Amino acid sequence: MPTECCLTPTPPPKTSRQVRRAQDRRRPAQPEPALNPAQEARGLTEEIMAQVAAKAGAVALTQAELTDAEIQAWRTDLQARLETIQQHPEENLGHIEEALAQASKEILCVWAQRAAQAKANATPCRCHKCQRELTHQKCLRRHVDSRFGRLALWRAYGWCLHCETWQFPADYALGLAQNAAASPYVQEISALLVTKMPPEQAAAVAERLGLKLSRCLLDREAHRQGLKAQARRSETIAQLDTWEGIVQQLGRPAEGSATQPFTLVIEIDAWIIRERDDWGQTKALREQGKEPERYHWVYMGTVFRLDQRGQTAGERAIITQRGYVATRLGLEAFIAQLYREALQRGLNQAEHVLVVADGGLWIWNLAKDRFPAAAQRLDLWHADEHLWEVAHVLYGRGTPEARAWVKPLLAHIRNDESAALLASLTELKPRLLQAQQEKLQREIEYFKNNAHRMKYKAILQARKAVQDGKATPEQIHLANQPLGSGAIESTCRQYQCRFKRTGQFWTTAGDEALMCLETFWRNGRWEELYPHAKSPNALN
Ligand SMILES: [Zn+2]
Repeated sequence: MPTECCLTPTPPPKTSRQVRRAQDRRRPAQPEPALNPAQEARGLTEEIMAQVAAKAGAVALTQAELTDAEIQAWRTDLQARLETIQQHPEENLGHIEEALAQASKEILCVWAQRAAQAKANATPCRCHKCQRELTHQKCLRRHVDSRFGRLALWRAYGWCLHCETWQFPADYALGLAQNAAASPYVQEISALLVTKMPPEQAAAVAERLGLKLSRCLLDREAHRQGLKAQARRSETIAQLDTWEGIVQQLGRPAEGSATQPFTLVIEIDAWIIRERDDWGQTKALREQGKEPERYHWVYMGTVFRLDQRGQTAGERAIITQRGYVATRLGLEAFIAQLYREALQRGLNQAEHVLVVADGGLWIWNLAKDRFPAAAQRLDLWHADEHLWEVAHVLYGRGTPEARAWVKPLLAHIRNDESAALLASLTELKPRLLQAQQEKLQREIEYFKNNAHRMKYKAILQARKAVQDGKATPEQIHLANQPLGSGAIESTCRQYQCRFKRTGQFWTTAGDEALMCLETFWRNGRWEELYPHAKSPNALN
C-alpha cells in the first residue's frame, strides 16, 4: 500500500516528516527515554487530542497552502541532496532526477491532502443525483491512495430522503469510489498498467515509477475500472436504441476531418481465449449433460477511412486514425459495438463501405445484415492459402511440383479469373482418390461462394501504375485499398500478446473488463473514463 502521508491538515499545520527530518539533520540524535504507565497514558490522551484537533483543523481548511517554514525546509532538503550528488563524480543526471522526485514526494503529499481537503470542505452537502440537501449530516475520515502517497480526508455525509441512500458528496466531487481507496490518478494508472501487463509486473513497474501499489490493489482496481469502461460502452450503445440518440449520432461529424468523399473500411476477425470459469466443475457439469466451456471466441473489428491509410518511407502500410472493437460477449454484442464504432468513424458520411475479412461465413452474414450496401472482399492471402492446401494434398508440402501447379492458379486469382480457377480445380477431380476428392470439393465450394469477393486485378494494376508513375487519379485512390485484412490480424495479435500468454487462463468477467479498457485506450477515448488525463496518442 502507498506510504501514508504523515500530516493531518491542522492550521497552523504540524511540521511534516520531511521538515522534521531536515531539522533532525541539524540536531544530534538522542536516545529515546523509556516511558512509565503514567507517561504512556498521557501520550495516549495527547494522541486523541491531536486527532480531535486534526479533525477540527481539517474541516476548517479553506485553502491549500504550505507555510513558509515548510517551503524553506523543503528547499534546504533539496539543496542538501543535490550538494551530496555534486560531491560524487560517479552520480549522473539520473541521480539528480531521483533525488528531486524523492525529496518532493512528501511535500506534494501534504499539499495534495490539503487541496483535496479544501475541495471536500467546499462541496455542498447535497445529493449528487437529486441535488436535495442531505439530512443527518455527520463527518467521517477516509484514506485515499494518491499519486503522492496515502492521504487522510475528513468529509461530510448524510442521508438523502428522496433517493434513500447515504451519500458522501465530497467523494463524488473528488472522483473517489465509496469502497476503493484509489485516487483518480491511481485508478487510471492501475487500468493502464494492468491492460498492458500482468499485475505482478505492473506492481514492480509502478514501484519503479514511484507508486507503491500492491499486486492485489492493481488487480482489483483495474477490474473495477474495466467494469466502469464496460458501463460507459453500454451507455453509448444504448443511445442508438433511442430516436434522439440516433438523430444525434447521424448529425455528428465523423472522427477526423473529411473534406473529400471517402471509403470506409471495416475489417473483421476472431480468435480464441481460454477461460477457467468452469474449472473444478467438469464432473458436475457433465453429469448435468453439459460440456464445460473453456474456450471462447473474442470477436474483433477495426474501422478506418481509406484516406487515413498511407505508407511509411519503408513502404509499410500505416493507418493514422482507426477505431477498434474487441469483445468476448458473443456475436450479438460484437455486432452492436462494431456498428456503433462504424457510425462514429463516418458510416453515414462514407461514399463507399468495404468489408474485408478472411472468409468466415458469420462475417459475411454480419456484413449483409448490418452493412448491406458495403462491398465485400476476401483476404487475398487466405485465398492463396486455400490453393496451397490443394497443392500440398496433390504433390506434397514444399515440393517443386506443388509450386509449379499452384503458380498459374495464383495468377487466376490475381486476374479476377474465378471461372478459369474453378474450371482448373474441377478438371482435377477425376484424377483423385475419394478422400482427396472430398477435400478438393470443399475448396471448390469455398472459391464458388467467395467468387464475387475476389476482385483484386484493378487494385494490383493501380499499384503497378503508381509504381511506374503512370497512375490516373482514380488509380491512386484505388491503389490504397487493402487487398487483405492484415490490419485486423495484426490487432488480434497485439491483443493476444496480453490475453493469450502461456499458461494464462481468464475469467469471463476478468478478460472482458480489461479488453474493454484496452479498447478505450486504443480508440483515443481514455479521457472519457479519466477526464483528468490528457488525450493520449491512440496506438495506431
Ligand atoms: Zn437524492
